[in-house]
Amino acid sequence: MLGRYSGEAERYRQLAREGQTPETMVIACCDSRAAPETIFDAAPGDLFVVRNVANLVPPYTPNADFHGTSAALEFGVQALKVRHIIVMGHGRCGGIKAALDPEMQPLSESDFIGKWMSLVRESAETIGANDLLTAAERQRLMERVSIRASLANLRTFPYIAKNEAEGRLTLHGAWFDISTGELWAMDQDTGDFHRPFEGHDFAAEAGQGAAGTGETLAGMLPATKPEDASGP
Ligand SMILES: [Zn+2]
Repeated sequence: MLGRYSGEAERYRQLAREGQTPETMVIACCDSRAAPETIFDAAPGDLFVVRNVANLVPPYTPNADFHGTSAALEFGVQALKVRHIIVMGHGRCGGIKAALDPEMQPLSESDFIGKWMSLVRESAETIGANDLLTAAERQRLMERVSIRASLANLRTFPYIAKNEAEGRLTLHGAWFDISTGELWAMDQDTGDFHRPFEGHDFAAEAGQGAAGTGETLAGMLPATKPEDASGP
């Protein structure tokens, strides 16, 4: 075997024998620059990941449509019993940019991206119409507003709300700055995003998680200093 597999061969064999038991589920964007396993320096078996355009979570809608993200949530929470769900947005998100720009194609109701991004249409229209903000400010704001919207939608799933209320599940928001490689964490109480404090090495902690310390990736997300809220 070549490449990455050779270095992880024993771990893969163990995972094959024992099955997967990830404690953390990540909802991330399809964007090739925002891969959760890379950002968290996670090993095979650490993260249960679902990726879609702009890392959106639709509201709980049990009907005959095809619900890929909801199916992944169901498996992660009900079968794997993950203890953390991280909604991780990122800078320069093309899906968010499309949602903010009514001129951009494809964005019609009849295409898939347009329909998908209509999950955040109301806030995109409000933010997109705000002339006090620059285009870059609108983009970053929308990236974060959509993370909060997805967290709210997660709580419309009955088993997620129940598990959270009973302390078996914690929801987190995070935003990855592609240009600097920084992972910002959402304050659970205020919804504000804070950059990681100096010397706080997310990747190293994720690496510890990979080694099997149990309290892993998501547990560290709220551990940021509120006073670091300023900045871009
Ligand atoms: Zn994106």
